[in-house]
Amino acid sequence: MQCPLWWALQYEWTPRRLNGPRDYARVLGRAFTAGMASAHQWQQTAPTSTLIPPGVVDEAVAVATTLAQAGLAELAGFEVSDRDAAMRDAVVPRAQRAVRKAIEQSPIPPEWFSPEMLVEADLGEAYGHAKPDLAVVTPRGYSIVDYKLKLAVRGRSPEERDRNRQFLIQDYEYSWQMYHYCWALSGVTGGEVTTYNIALVTLEPKFQMELLPYEINPESMAMWLGFAERAWADMEAIEMGERDPYTFMPCRSQYGMCDCNLAVWKHHLDPTLMEQDYVRRKHGQR
Ligand code: SF4
Repeated sequence: MQCPLWWALQYEWTPRRLNGPRDYARVLGRAFTAGMASAHQWQQTAPTSTLIPPGVVDEAVAVATTLAQAGLAELAGFEVSDRDAAMRDAVVPRAQRAVRKAIEQSPIPPEWFSPEMLVEADLGEAYGHAKPDLAVVTPRGYSIVDYKLKLAVRGRSPEERDRNRQFLIQDYEYSWQMYHYCWALSGVTGGEVTTYNIALVTLEPKFQMELLPYEINPESMAMWLGFAERAWADMEAIEMGERDPYTFMPCRSQYGMCDCNLAVWKHHLDPTLMEQDYVRRKHGQR
């Protein structure tokens, strides 16, 4: 769930500065999921086979490469520090290696792949255009598989890394995005979707991929929907100009301050001052 304040601003303003770790991680993540989608599309048409032919793997890597290069081209106009440059230069090889390894070592049960699965499907306007990476058919009915790519799980010792990994697992347990996907998929398929899986990929110090299963209690889902409907009504009122946007000030994430930080806390939403740190987008550009 996005901060309502940035949600209201981001279609009009874009930051002038690059947030290297976040922006390059985003390009890498998109390239990786596009590459995986290419392989899954093949699996849709060949559901009984568990082995993906080398040509399909190469095609998936090529898709990831194209997406990574396109993402980097969009960021090409920004000034980059030496550290950012190293990250930028690693995006394409990382995306290529991640796709190849993830196909090789996929923990997703092959029997979940079938012609009925949905690959990067837009679930429609009625569901806020939710777009899970995969909707698979498991013995318990439809379920979501969503890829999360991490460079590394942070920590200076194995114990610290293990603790941080546990936090990560808990984070995905109360994920607005995953509740949204399951709710949307229930609506689209007409069945109750109460499970989802995070395909957690870690690139360093060595490639690792695991499938983390989660279950949503139907009462929890009903509660989430109540919260979501209120949030969506708020957003609509903000969009219609009936209400001013607001924030609860999380203002910081693992990648540093959020994009809107300078707009709010330095320029106090004064459009003239905001021009120093943001570019005004063309009308309607999303
Ligand atoms: S800086 Fe604060 S107000 Fe701006 S998007 Fe982040 S959380 Fe919202």
